[in-house]
Amino acid sequence: MEDKEKIRQEIERLRREIRRHDYLYYVLAQPEISDYEYDMLMKRLEELERQYPEFITPDSPTQRVAGEPTKEFPVVRHRKPMLSLSNTYNEEEVRDFDRRVRSLLQPGEPYEYVCELKIDGVAMSLIYENGLLVRGATRGDGEQGDDVTNNVKTIRSIPLKIESDKPYLLNIEVRGEVYFHREALDRLNEERIANGEPPFANPRNAAAGSLKLQDPREVARRPLRMFCYYLDPLVEDHPIKTQYECLKLLEQLKFPVNPHHKLCRNIDEVIEFWREWQEKKDTLPYDIDGVVVKVNSLEQQNRLGATAKSPRWAIAFKFPTEQAITQLVDIQWQVGRTGIVTPVAILRPVQLLGTTVSRATLHNVDEIRRLDVRIGDYVVLEKGGEIIPKIIRVVKEKRSPDAQPYEPPTTCPACGSPLVRYEGEVALVCENVGCPAQVARRIEHFASRRAMDIEGLGEKVVELLLKNHLIRDYGDLYYLKAQDIAILERMGEKSASNLLQAIEASKQRPLDKVIFALGIRYVGEGAARLLADHFKSLDKLMQASVEEIAQIPGIGWKTAKSVYDFFRREENLKVIEKLRQAGVSFEMAEEKPAEVDERFYQKTFVFTGALSRYSRDEASRLVEERGGIVSNSVSRKTDYVVVGTDPGSKLQKAQRLGVRILTEEEFYQMLGE
Ligand code: NAD
Repeated sequence: MEDKEKIRQEIERLRREIRRHDYLYYVLAQPEISDYEYDMLMKRLEELERQYPEFITPDSPTQRVAGEPTKEFPVVRHRKPMLSLSNTYNEEEVRDFDRRVRSLLQPGEPYEYVCELKIDGVAMSLIYENGLLVRGATRGDGEQGDDVTNNVKTIRSIPLKIESDKPYLLNIEVRGEVYFHREALDRLNEERIANGEPPFANPRNAAAGSLKLQDPREVARRPLRMFCYYLDPLVEDHPIKTQYECLKLLEQLKFPVNPHHKLCRNIDEVIEFWREWQEKKDTLPYDIDGVVVKVNSLEQQNRLGATAKSPRWAIAFKFPTEQAITQLVDIQWQVGRTGIVTPVAILRPVQLLGTTVSRATLHNVDEIRRLDVRIGDYVVLEKGGEIIPKIIRVVKEKRSPDAQPYEPPTTCPACGSPLVRYEGEVALVCENVGCPAQVARRIEHFASRRAMDIEGLGEKVVELLLKNHLIRDYGDLYYLKAQDIAILERMGEKSASNLLQAIEASKQRPLDKVIFALGIRYVGEGAARLLADHFKSLDKLMQASVEEIAQIPGIGWKTAKSVYDFFRREENLKVIEKLRQAGVSFEMAEEKPAEVDERFYQKTFVFTGALSRYSRDEASRLVEERGGIVSNSVSRKTDYVVVGTDPGSKLQKAQRLGVRILTEEEFYQMLGE
């Protein structure tokens, strides 16, 4: 009897713990444990409930879909519940799943699976009526979600209107995953850190957070994307028979469908597909955390049915996430260009997913406090799809008894000025604009690829120039002389002249690049573009009032104020004057002719291999300026594949699909060069 009481208590404890993690994950988008650890808690609870069914209650996390509508939007009820998926991390359990499916069907009845990549984002339901997108809703608790139609409409890959000669395809529900590219997340996080906002821990949180924004214009600036994987006509009577057909129909209706799916005849082929993608997953520009295995026939799916929480005809076959334990040697504080000081964990080097890791991000003081991490602690590191490894938690059992709680610095590690923390913000800030670390970071930012793109002016060279008193700010770059640079260590005559040429070339950068390069707090690439498009000249922007700047759609008050203040600081004006005298372009280039270039307009381009004249970013920009679309993967919908040196597998795919292939030369000709 007493034993049973213990079990009951453990079940209760597990439920409490799981509910807490659900809240952290779904509502706050700030999980404290890894998905793997969470899934193991759930597995333990399921096991106990299986052994002791008398303890099952309808509100147990095993019995319902976690999550809830945020209620910041109108709440809508789903036509059919949006369920979760049961999951597994190993082959044996996938074979168990297969046996279960077989035992639930008629003896000897044939069946197939469709394998799809499990995109790590947020589920979304779209309703189309008479071909028009009328509603977009989040999963919420599975029964009810948030109506985020206006936000969804900003996602460019989602068709607002569909065309078909079959009426049952004009009235449909489509579901899929809204997600972020890793690179887009890095960029967004850079901006957030510069703004003193906490970075998103992973693409999933970024997607969830972006969909919750109240202002669709803000959402439009977030590069959200979607892959669709579910199609259900609103009418009962329709001829669609399989999941595979659904995917093909979605493609025909011009929905974005992940190209990597496969029809599998048996579970061995499923496992093979999973193994293959476990190897290849890092080659994708977005995160996947496994493979979703679905019984192909819709009629069989119906017969297999679902529990309250997940369908019996599907399973998420997840990839193992790797973790490692190592020791925290130190916490270093890095000063960014806007004065924000961020902590970096210095670790005893350890192997993780094939690379040696010796640093990890700690985000900010709050994160250090939340983890209660102390110097000398053993910490659990995890690297999932994300590039930067993360400290998940401290192994408290291994803590030395004399470990002291970590005290964050009160002064800037570079210049010794006192650090401040603004109300409502998490970051520590060094307010000394002359702080040498900030000066160096500002110049590096100015010269970086996305700003003035001065090749050869990286961290090392900036450091040398500063150390030798050849420059004090980025305005001085334009007054450097070949003989000054050539005498620097590691700088021969050739690289000196290359550097000067690169500096000279940067004078012609477009206005938005110049504005971005100035390094104004809160002004990332997106905001810089909006400011350039609106004012068309740096001088006009410099004279604008806060109100004038704030009324630009997409620019908030905080940003407007920061821009205004920037141009009121004496030291900034002096630097800008140096740029002007040197001949840096302060005006928007001539307006592009309004007529569209048919060869580019709404055509999809994919690049593979390196181009000799442009970086990928530049080439993409050139295509986008002409109304074209740049995509990362080749599909039947691709119009052109531009092939540079050392092309990848995209070339073969293009050849296979018969997509038009352009040599570099042909591409430049099309650009009119
Ligand atoms: P899930 O993520 O395991 O699977 C269901 C979801 O998969 C669907 O809603 C859909 O959004 C997504 N999906 C992606 N590609 C798909 C495809 N091709 N076909 C169908 N669906 C696809 O389920 P869930 O209920 O969203 O979340 C539960 C999981 O979330 C847990 O297993 C755990 O890993 C994680 N979680 C973690 C914490 C934490 O604290 N770390 C807390 C709660 C949940």
